[in-house]
Amino acid sequence: MSDFALKVSNVSKLYAKGPKALNGVSLEIKPGEIFGLLGPNGAGKSTLINIISSIVRKDEGSIQVYEHDLDKNPTEIKYDIGLVPQEISFDPFLTVEQTLQFQSGYFGIKDNQSYIEEVLERLSLIDKRDNRTRALSGGMKRRLLIAKALIHKPRLLILDEPTAGVDVELRHNLWNYVVDLNKQGTTVLLTTHYIEEAQNLCNRVAIIDKGEIQAMDQTQTLIDQLGEEKVFTLQLKNNHTKVPTELQKYKVKLIEPGHTLEIIINPDDIEQLFADIQTAKLDIKNFQLSEQKLEDVFLKLTYNRNEN
Ligand code: ADP
Repeated sequence: MSDFALKVSNVSKLYAKGPKALNGVSLEIKPGEIFGLLGPNGAGKSTLINIISSIVRKDEGSIQVYEHDLDKNPTEIKYDIGLVPQEISFDPFLTVEQTLQFQSGYFGIKDNQSYIEEVLERLSLIDKRDNRTRALSGGMKRRLLIAKALIHKPRLLILDEPTAGVDVELRHNLWNYVVDLNKQGTTVLLTTHYIEEAQNLCNRVAIIDKGEIQAMDQTQTLIDQLGEEKVFTLQLKNNHTKVPTELQKYKVKLIEPGHTLEIIINPDDIEQLFADIQTAKLDIKNFQLSEQKLEDVFLKLTYNRNEN
């Protein structure tokens, strides 16, 4: 039995007409973990997942899923992983149950009926088994995507931005499903740009930006490593399109839609910050000093990115 579920070693990818999407990425996920790959848009998350799922070819490095190597045993790896893609795509004329029967056939599983029913039950879709997929609500479609990915009993479930564009209630429901699946033994890798999602769900996270892993650890350890620094949130009366010059020396981020500045700062430097705010003649509506969260680890590692 392998002591990892996924091992990514030094993987790089340069798209023909594009940037270096991944630059020497390495990470390891243990069986039983919920591991989060967290990064802003364009960081390289989908590229990595697509490489693991044989949708995109890597240029360098190696991928192992349990005891199999992607270059040597791509078919075995296909059976080991279940991919929940971002995009919803079903045959609109099939029913929920037929969708899962076809998916079982795709994996060459002949008699999967009892497992199909188990998965439908587990994802609260059993009442909808005879509904055509086109008639499902957005939330049901998301759950059917997960059911489809589970139908061949993969050991590693990969979710690509599972809650992108999903409302708060459904997001929380999906989180519960993922936690349940994990408790029942499925290892989970999820990508997300929702920091709250990673903080709530993941035992460990890797923060990726510009194709490189910027940090990787237990979620709480990453937060603890931030040390003394705190978050100073400044709400302004006027809309700003860029960080005022006087504040650019700080670890600062302008939050959409331009009324809020978040500054990561050592408490010793607050006096200087107030002086700079005054020089910048900012119209302050409100401000707040708070403890850091995983969000701030993220901010610290990717700060000033949006202002370039
Ligand atoms: P993320 O999933 O974190 O948003 P991606 O892996 O989709 O990031 O993208 C990483 C970088 O690679 C981005 O700069 C993106 O524009 C680029 N990219 C992604 N897919 C392609 C492609 N098929 N061809 C060229 N460039 C691509």
